[in-house]
Amino acid sequence: MTKTASTTDTTDVPGFIGSGEPPFTARPLHELVAEQAERAPHAPAVTCDGQTLTYQQLITRAQGLAERLRAAGLAQEDVVGVLMPRSPELIVALLAVLIAGGAYLGLEPDDPPGRRESLLKDADVAMVIVDDALRDRVPDGITTVSEDAAAPRPTTGPTVPPLPGHPDRLAYVSYTSGSTGEPKGVAVPHRAVDRLVRGADWMEVRSEDVFFHIAPVAFDASTLEIWAALANGCRLVVFPQVAITLEQVAETVRTEGVTVLLLTTGLFHQMAGSRLDAFAGVRHVLTGGDVASPSHVGRLLAAYPQLVFTNGYGPTENTTYTTCWTSSTLAAGQSVPIGHPISGTRVAVLDGSLRPVPMGECGELYAAGAGLSRCYLHRPAATAERFVPDPFATEPGARMYRTGDLVRWTPDGTLEFVGRADEQVKVQGYRAEPRAVEVELEHMAGVRHAVVLPQADPAGGTRLLAYVVPTDPDPGNAIGLGRQLRLDLREKLPTYLVPWAILIRSELPLNRNGKVDRRALPTATRVPRNVGNEFVAPLTTVQLRLSELWGELLGVEPIGIEDDFFDLGGHSLLATELLVAVQREFGVDVPAQTLFFSPTVAEFATALVEQLEEQPR
Ligand code: ADP
Repeated sequence: MTKTASTTDTTDVPGFIGSGEPPFTARPLHELVAEQAERAPHAPAVTCDGQTLTYQQLITRAQGLAERLRAAGLAQEDVVGVLMPRSPELIVALLAVLIAGGAYLGLEPDDPPGRRESLLKDADVAMVIVDDALRDRVPDGITTVSEDAAAPRPTTGPTVPPLPGHPDRLAYVSYTSGSTGEPKGVAVPHRAVDRLVRGADWMEVRSEDVFFHIAPVAFDASTLEIWAALANGCRLVVFPQVAITLEQVAETVRTEGVTVLLLTTGLFHQMAGSRLDAFAGVRHVLTGGDVASPSHVGRLLAAYPQLVFTNGYGPTENTTYTTCWTSSTLAAGQSVPIGHPISGTRVAVLDGSLRPVPMGECGELYAAGAGLSRCYLHRPAATAERFVPDPFATEPGARMYRTGDLVRWTPDGTLEFVGRADEQVKVQGYRAEPRAVEVELEHMAGVRHAVVLPQADPAGGTRLLAYVVPTDPDPGNAIGLGRQLRLDLREKLPTYLVPWAILIRSELPLNRNGKVDRRALPTATRVPRNVGNEFVAPLTTVQLRLSELWGELLGVEPIGIEDDFFDLGGHSLLATELLVAVQREFGVDVPAQTLFFSPTVAEFATALVEQLEEQPR
């Protein structure tokens, strides 16, 4: 594929910039992969931990599984759950669902059971492809199928022969958070993905390119990773570890010779901050999902002037990317633009009356074209609210998606991201609506009122802080309520939505209109420890210093030596911050693995002391 010049063609439709028509006629994704298998059957398609599937092996295994799915009753556009760790088998499963005419729903193995059940119910899922080790996480009443290369082909063929694929058919469903507490399933057709991965004017794809799959499959960054690789005949390197550490990412990228590397913004900042060496062999680095920091982008481009960098912007509803800024230089003092609409996408910056705003003024971004998803699954009201009639289109029924993002055109013709028009924030790379967590809390026993606010965390991201007024005004009875609520939320919500801390208050400050005055709430940066185990005070100097570092990073006090870093609210990005602090303080590089296997202060201190003793003096 050749790179076409990046353009911002103005169509004759006022208000919109870009062409909503992709460069090629849309095709179903699995047909593109099958074509690659015909063209180069022995070319490597998927590599993971020393194991490789060629294109022919990939397609043959996927066809076998597709036949079994159809024999088990899968009908056109049925949503099939996929509950598997990142692995070659997962890629086979996704392709099989598409070949069989279904749409996949990627499920996170570590989601709480309550959330998994509600997603499966919401999407009307009757069948889940599951890894044997995870089978007991599938609720009763749902058919389970495993991806097993040795499974016999079904003897009873499907009653309906497979239909030829169609680009308007659904390819997958991806859930995003909704402000009512109910996640919404974005229903994405093949056409929308095809426009992202073929003939892109913001990314050059070469057949010898090696892509990296590290995003959770429930998250739409994986759409680009997987289908850009397989639709273009490239090799896809699957990162199998659940716990992501910077060393392992750097090591895999280097040893596998990854050339196109997409890292979500939080992880990109950490890699550019402490593992710049990982990018040495990479040709094109992409990031997206949150505001990119100019200093990290500048650092990367200064170290590797030949490298191409893309800041990709876009909501799941317009299929991974809507606009991209692709460049090899960033002027000093410049923020990182979000660029132009990508091929197959049109965007407009409009005011509250849907009139285009002049250049330089802030307005809301609307997106249209081939990347639009079909709807929010089974939610016509929410769909009608966000996918609105396109007043600029000549074709009847045309829609545009209201992103809720505020942007402005800059004089050089690129878009600049300004912020959100609503309360939505990004927590650990995921869209989070604090209101959704408030709704969840207000349904719980003992809660009269809840307010959830975002707050900056020490890893450079955002965390949620909850304030709860209990139904029982007796302060004695509120003891332990915060801890209990956090435990209950963990059963229902994915970890990134569980507030870092829940503060119990007898009342909340009100403004003159009688509404909660969010700005007057005390912004705690330290909260009392909220874990089930007893407090055991540090004994040694190393334990004492480690518990202080733990406390600073996690914003919790006091820290006991038997407290677990991850129970206290630690996550992988904070783990990296901790290891950098340990390096600074003790002069040793402790591998991230050590923290995952020795997550309490006492265990980590022992491992650290051992490493200090082994060091040459
Ligand atoms: P993504 O796959 O990009 O994370 P989501 O649907 O989860 O998609 O989140 C989309 C939202 O994330 C956007 O509406 C915007 O608020 C924010 N976002 C995504 N990419 C960027 C970016 N490059 N710069 C600033 N904000 C971004």
